Amino acid sequence: MHCDGYTINIARTAPSVGADITGVDLSKPISDAVFDDIRRALGEFGVVLFRDQNIDSNAHLAFARRFGDININRFFQSVKGYPEIAYVAREPDQVGSTGWYWHTDHSYDQAPAMGSIFAAREIPAVGGDTLFAGMAAAYEALSDGLKSTLESLFAWHTDLVCPEVSDPTLQAVFADRQPGLQTNKGTRSKHPVVIRHPISGKKVLYVNPGFTERFYGWTQAESKPLLDFLYAHAGQPQFTYRHRWKEGDVAFWDNRATWHCALDDCFGYRRELHRITVEGVPLEAASA
Ligand code: MN
Repeated sequence: MHCDGYTINIARTAPSVGADITGVDLSKPISDAVFDDIRRALGEFGVVLFRDQNIDSNAHLAFARRFGDININRFFQSVKGYPEIAYVAREPDQVGSTGWYWHTDHSYDQAPAMGSIFAAREIPAVGGDTLFAGMAAAYEALSDGLKSTLESLFAWHTDLVCPEVSDPTLQAVFADRQPGLQTNKGTRSKHPVVIRHPISGKKVLYVNPGFTERFYGWTQAESKPLLDFLYAHAGQPQFTYRHRWKEGDVAFWDNRATWHCALDDCFGYRRELHRITVEGVPLEAASA
């Protein structure tokens, strides 16, 4: 219980990633004490979930701004009147989606986004779940030998290797759907393979199937077997949490601590989420 009368409760949703937070009303400004609890939980659990929230776009923005500057997304249309809020919608007859593979948003940026805050506006009766994987738990489960090897490595990340770009037919689908919007543009950044998480201080595996190109100083062919091993390892069910959305959910995930994957299995239904992405910081090696 905080002095302002809040009783905030934090409960894991799965052993490796995710926590439900209750006792917070995001339609109202949050106190510094509640902000600190949420931020710490985000670092610790990677994803925090708030149920039955009734927030409008102003409250969504006010909450996001507590955590940092807003990153204006170049891949989505925005919510009318709110350029900072991405309109992530899928129409019932729409073919082609995005982000259906494991990835970490913006890992190709020099200072990758801290995370995204999603408000669920319209949710399919079935399908459209989001999967998360916890990269601190996945790293922790590796052998000491591999951990020390990985801690000495860096990797290149680029927005040119994700499936939407490597498959030209998908590019055409996106161009049809969102004419005039920018797509991937060849941004490339080098990050440590094992980072020290900026909030939790934990060691976190920081490569992902969406955007990691190769290890620094290694060819793509040399990198592929070890990257494939890490992807198979980190994507194992025990490191994941599957979020079944309900209208009124607010989900906030930390891009440095997690992977996510948006299941493209809700053909015939409409899905609408509003997303605000918070800017991050350059990442430091766990070994530094
Ligand atoms: Mn994503």
